Amino acid sequence: MRLGPLSIRTRLTLWYTGLLLTILVLIGGLSYHVLAWTLAQDVDASLVTVAQVIRDAGYSTSGAAPGSDAEAALRDLLGPEFHDKFFQFLGPRGQPNPRAGSLRQRSLPLSSRARQNAVRGKRTFETVSLDRGEPVRLLTLPVQGAGDPSEIIQVGLSLRRVQGALGRYLQILLALVPLGVGLAAGGGAVIARAALAPVNDMSRTARRITAENLARRLAPRGAHDELDHLAQTLNGMLARLEEAFGQMRRFTADAAHELRTPLTALRGGIEVALRARRSPEEYRRVLVGSLEEVNRLVRLAEDLLLLSRSAAGATGLRVRVELEPLLLEVLELGARLAHGTGVEVRLAGVEPVAALGDSSALRRALLNLVENAVKYTPSGGTVELSLARTDRWAVLVVADTGIGVDPAEAERIFEPFVRLDEARSRETGGSGFGLAIARSVAVDHGGSLSLESLPKAGSRFTLRLPAA
Ligand code: ADP
Repeated sequence: MRLGPLSIRTRLTLWYTGLLLTILVLIGGLSYHVLAWTLAQDVDASLVTVAQVIRDAGYSTSGAAPGSDAEAALRDLLGPEFHDKFFQFLGPRGQPNPRAGSLRQRSLPLSSRARQNAVRGKRTFETVSLDRGEPVRLLTLPVQGAGDPSEIIQVGLSLRRVQGALGRYLQILLALVPLGVGLAAGGGAVIARAALAPVNDMSRTARRITAENLARRLAPRGAHDELDHLAQTLNGMLARLEEAFGQMRRFTADAAHELRTPLTALRGGIEVALRARRSPEEYRRVLVGSLEEVNRLVRLAEDLLLLSRSAAGATGLRVRVELEPLLLEVLELGARLAHGTGVEVRLAGVEPVAALGDSSALRRALLNLVENAVKYTPSGGTVELSLARTDRWAVLVVADTGIGVDPAEAERIFEPFVRLDEARSRETGGSGFGLAIARSVAVDHGGSLSLESLPKAGSRFTLRLPAA
């Protein structure tokens, strides 16, 4: 079976639960070992105490009669605990001590290590298993006489109770850890659901937003947290989308309007021509007028195409374009355009620079600037072109001494279909696309197009392209 992608809620809960389980298992294991160690220390400490009591009471070394009296005395001393303990006396080399023979029937084993230690005067702790498998902790303690150990005391304590306590603790851990993890998983799932509920709300609202109602916004909850920040970010994006959609609608409406004007003129001319019988000269005149309108339409279609291509970054191949010959070519075209208008088109300075780009799009952008400069400069004025290089940029400038642009309109004229001087532009045949195309080409090439202008004094367009 293949699991589908897990929701964030499930993943959060799983992570959280897994982490908690690991922590609890670690803490459980650690506490179990600490408890076991502490209990073992306690057992050893009580063994030492009992052995010392026996030794100090002198049951083993004095001549006093040992036997059941000693056991009774120890029972008094140590209370009901005593029956768990075993003890015996041995001779200095570990041989059975006849005096202690009656003390207990059960004899404790004496390992060779314990015997050697005892001979050297050292005590030994061991864990041994007595008959019937009873686990016993055993202390072998030499009793120091003058020099040699005069006797060995062995004391044992059953580990049954300690092991029982540890077993119970383990059982409690095994019951409580899964319970705790289960409760935490449930709680974690509830918290994750509550925390992610606003996300679900947001996606529900977002799903209702379409191109038709882009004015809708996600409502921030006022918590100033990450989710509110996300809502703000999405709202910002929606605002930009709304703006872009608005621009697109205006653009479509303007384009339809621009197309309708020449088409209406075309239809009017043809209708009038067809209303009566005409002479060949009259037909010719109508056809020439029609061709003019058709040319306008073709130019408009080309402009639209170039604008949409450069705005989408889909202009032609990027190759190394030498800008100096390009500028000289445009200069010549500009001079031809200005022929007979009384405007002088000249070169102000040129440096060899190249840029990476689409040469025909770049030529078109530059030509639009020069055409405008010639168009909007009255007789007697000049248009100057220059090309320079700064460290990273190729800077192309088209400056004129023409009518200039009001600073308030300086940004607007880069929008498509915007013409400031309607009557004049119509007559000169501009569609209001020239600057939009030039800027779009510049931006598409990683550059920019800016304007400095003073009304009645002239304009200066600066086209910056990254130098190759
Ligand atoms: P058009 O096709 O009308 O020339 P543009 O996009 O090229 O369209 O220019 C938009 C408007 O910007 C023009 O109608 C004109 O009013 C203004 N403009 C452009 N270039 C200049 C200039 N060199 N001097 C003064 N005004 C200019």
